[in-house]
This record gives sequence, C-alpha cells and structure tokens, in this order.
Amino acid sequence: MRNDLKIFNEIVEVLLQEEEKTPVVKPIPATELFDTLDLDLNEDPMIDEAFKDSLQKLILHTPRTATKLFFNQLFGGRSGRAMIGELLAAMMNNSMYTYKVGGPMIGVEKVIVNRLLKMINYPESAGGTFTAGGSMSNFMGMLMARDAFDHTARFHGVPQGMIAYTSKESHYSVQKNAAFIGMGRNNIRYVPADDSGGMIPGALDEMIQADKEAGLKPFMVNATSGTTVLGAFDPIRAISAVCKNHQLWLHVDGAFGGSALFSKKWEHLMDGVELSDSFCINAHKMLGPPMACSMIFARDQKHLYDSFANEASYLYQTHDDGFNPGKISFNCGRRNDALKFWTLWKSVGTKGLEQIVDHEFHLAKVAKEYVKNHPDYTVYGPDNSVSICFNYKDLDPKALCNSLYEAGEIMVGYGSFRSDRFVRLVTVNSGNSEADLMHFFKKLEAFAAKHEEELSVKVSS
Ligand SMILES: *Cc1c(COP(=O)(O)O)cnc(C)c1O
Repeated sequence: MRNDLKIFNEIVEVLLQEEEKTPVVKPIPATELFDTLDLDLNEDPMIDEAFKDSLQKLILHTPRTATKLFFNQLFGGRSGRAMIGELLAAMMNNSMYTYKVGGPMIGVEKVIVNRLLKMINYPESAGGTFTAGGSMSNFMGMLMARDAFDHTARFHGVPQGMIAYTSKESHYSVQKNAAFIGMGRNNIRYVPADDSGGMIPGALDEMIQADKEAGLKPFMVNATSGTTVLGAFDPIRAISAVCKNHQLWLHVDGAFGGSALFSKKWEHLMDGVELSDSFCINAHKMLGPPMACSMIFARDQKHLYDSFANEASYLYQTHDDGFNPGKISFNCGRRNDALKFWTLWKSVGTKGLEQIVDHEFHLAKVAKEYVKNHPDYTVYGPDNSVSICFNYKDLDPKALCNSLYEAGEIMVGYGSFRSDRFVRLVTVNSGNSEADLMHFFKKLEAFAAKHEEELSVKVSS
C-alpha cells in the first residue's frame, strides 16, 4: 500500500504541474483513442514503472475539471480539504447502511443532514439522506410523492392517469424518473416559464384544474431552484400555494442552486422552501466537494421509511433505525459521500461556505456586467443566477464552443432557452477570481478574432 501511495503522489504532483501549465488538454479524437493510449487489458502483470507510465499518460490526457478554464458543467475546481475526506473515505471503504459498519461516519452524515434540515427550516419530523446524485434524489422525491398519493401503489402497481408538473426548464431527470416510478413519461406536464426562466404559478394552476376536470390524477409538482441552463429559481412560495390548494406534493430540485441556502444574501431566491414536501441539493455543484455529494430531504421522514425501508435480518443486526440509514436509502451498499463535505465544512466553517456561495454570485455579476456593457455581446437569462448566457458577435455558439474545445483553449458549453441558443458560462468554481473570468473573455475574443469566418453562421436551436 505504501508503495502504491508513493506512485499516487508522484502522479498527482505531475498532474498539478501540468494543470497549471496547460489548463485545457487537447482532446484525443474519440476515433483515435484506442490507438493513442494503452487502454487494453494485458494477460500478464505489469511492472511498476510501466504501470505508472501508462497510468500517468492516461491521467494527463483526461479533461481537467479543476482548472480555471473549465466552465463546461455545473461543477469545477478542487477543494483540498474536501479531497482529504474523499480520499480517506476510499481508504477506509465503509458502507453507510448500518452503524455497525459505518461507525462514527453515520454520525458525520447525521450531523450534516440535521444542519441542512435546520437551514431549510423543516419541522422536527423531517429527515434526509445522502444519495448517489441529483437524478437519484429527484427520483426518490417523486417516488415518495407517488406513495403518499397512493399507499398501495408499491404493492399493486401504479394507477392510471397520474400526472406530474414541472417547468419546461427543469432537469431531464424528471422525465426519466416518471418512467422509473411507473407513471409514464407522457404524463408529465410542462408548465411554461416566464422571461427569466421561472415557472408561472398561474399557468400551473390552470393546467392542474384542466386535468382534474378531465378526470385525471394530478399528484405532484417539481419546482427547480437553479434551472440547469439559465440557473433560474422557480417561485416556491407561490407554487406551494397552488400545491396546497390542490393537495399535491411539492418537490424542490435544488441540485444546482440549492446551495443558495448557505447565503444570507441569496437564500431569498428559495423563499418558501420550508413549505415543500421534499427538497434535494448537490453540494458538489456550487460548494466544491468532489462528485457526488448529493442529498434528499423529506419534510416528514415517515415518507422516506414508507418508500424505502425493507427488513433484512442479514443486514440490520444492531442499533435502532436512526443509526441505520440503510433503512431510508435506495442503495444497499452506499459510499461515504458525507466525509468530504464534513472535512470541507469543518475547515472553512459555515461562514466559509457562505463566502463560497457569495463569491460565485459575485463572479457571475462581474461577468454579466462585462457582457452587458460590451456592444459585441448579447445577454440572456435572469440577473440573479450563476449562469451567464451570451452570444458573441454573430458567432454560432455551438461552433464556437466546439472549436474552443477541439483547440484545447476553453471548456465551455452551450444551451438554449425558447428559440435562442447561446454560450453558457457558469461561475461555480469558487477558486476563480475576477481576473480569471476576464481571462476567459479575452481568450474567447482572441480566438474568435482568429477564426471569425468559419464560426460566423449563427443558427437558432
Ligand atoms: C445537475 C442537476 C441534476 C442532476 O444531478 P446529477 O447529480 O447530475 O444526477 C438535477 N437537477 C438539476 C436542476 C441539475 O442542475
């Protein structure tokens, strides 16, 4: 093991140096991948040096998500303190179903879950658990909504005509999960969003009314705190009033923007979240621990037990349910994703997490001001979000993003809203400074100047 850790440290040292020198790796074309790298599995063992060389080469050709030029997804950067927790969790390899096997790590998870339940302002009856990711959290939310609507569904199957509502701008997992819980993808209703990307509660109300009149069975609404493209926040309080009126479950998907809860300045974006029935958050998006660091919370933890608990005498042999979180999780064996969040939280404090969120919103503001004040840019989306959506001159955003990637210049993606397609810059790496963002724009502009002709056929999505 000690020799392996030596190899690990040597490779990490090279990686860190290379990340500084070359923040974006030139991608290997997928068609040439297997001819470029030694990925084949050999019959015979490999000697250490050859093993290390081949592993190092692989690592150095892999996209660098921790650098200052990675803006492609809703995560980025690297927190050293969180990494300590992640690496130790792998080292210890506990499983988070029982206190007998997880020991104090169960306490680590409980402390984090309980703090977040307080921050949400859920009542004493609430509960929560770490999950494998946001899609899974949304799945668990939808399943609890189904079982709350019909207690017999999990025994007899799902009744026909169940309808769920979500905004057009919500994450695609909502649609997939509709299939998984048995209600069917076609029974999702897409509620229109206003100009800044937030769900329109009045439209929601009308759609529910119409479905009820048609004899269908509306049972839940999915609201989003931080939509995947625009980073928009649905008006939770108003949506909750509609849900109360029609007695529907309200799930809030805070996978992207839920971390706003940590900021006194920004938590107002989630005003009313305490009225929801379930809520999820991906700490690995805005707060910076490595993937995955995701949680689901229920206003009444009885729903977690109703939908997920199973007796298993080979597993639950000691302690009560409160210390055996396997009783409320989807998985049997479950990774310890709590420790990395705990090492981060412990080291920077709740105030440090607040600063991370505030800094990311600040970076977004700086970037938005830059594009707004620059005549060559067109801006899209709401002011209050950490997504900055823009087009530059008349360049096709898809061609621009793909060329920047192929040239090994910048990792950034594009998205669309209504009939517009645009570049989506996200400020979710709190390690970035204002200067790093200006560097992004200057680099993009210089690249565009060089390739203007081939990039200038702008198309709408
Ligand atoms: C990222 C995201 C998800 C999915 O989370 P995963 O951890 O990638 O499965 C769900 N909802 C929203 C709004 C997201 O941004």
